[in-house]
Amino acid sequence: MQQMSKQQVAKKPVEGKQSYLRLTEIFYSIQGESTYAGLPCIFIRTTGCDLRCTWCDTEYAFYGGRKWRFDEILEHIRQWPCTLVELTGGEPLLQKALPEFATLLLDRGYTVLIETGGHRDISVLDRRVVKIMDIKCPGSGEAEKNHWPNLRYLEAKDQVKFVVRDRADFDWAVEVIRKHDLQHGPQLLFSPVWGELEYEKLAEWLLQSGLRARLQTQLHKIIWGPDRKGV
Ligand code: SF4
Repeated sequence: MQQMSKQQVAKKPVEGKQSYLRLTEIFYSIQGESTYAGLPCIFIRTTGCDLRCTWCDTEYAFYGGRKWRFDEILEHIRQWPCTLVELTGGEPLLQKALPEFATLLLDRGYTVLIETGGHRDISVLDRRVVKIMDIKCPGSGEAEKNHWPNLRYLEAKDQVKFVVRDRADFDWAVEVIRKHDLQHGPQLLFSPVWGELEYEKLAEWLLQSGLRARLQTQLHKIIWGPDRKGV
């Protein structure tokens, strides 16, 4: 094997392969959404998003953050007695190294969830990752960005989430479910836009629809209030 000269070694990038993520925060809390709601969970929130949903509640994750090396993240999360981890954002799939990091967590025995906006390719992820994927309704202002081929990669353990602003959003979501036969695929989640649509109204529509879909409350907002970060 040819030996590298000192000059070549010096030129080698310090971080080598992109073994880091840009993060806004890491925290330990109660899972507020999905079929895992109510369980203790470690949240790893990446920085940056290429969407601008009208009702976004995590704008503070759009900019800033800092780079965390994989080993630094692993060391940090070891402090908590928990093996459930959610990768969230911002948009986690904007980070090139994220699929590799998800696999690394899985190989260490963590159950890994990812919350994604549904506009970026999820096929890059390890099949073991539980995908919680938005399908953006028209009320979000980003419905044209939905990456429909993603539906092919959703399994029974995965979850599709519709955040509904009004009746028009609800009817649109029902149409999408029927058109793509989602009733027999992933778990279906419906959330009202916080502060705009009452739970009671959404519950009534769901009951009338006959859909096998779950009404979501955002449990963390009920426990700690809607504006608290890091919970
Ligand atoms: S995808 Fe998520 S983080 Fe990005 S703008 Fe929409 S709600 Fe906010």
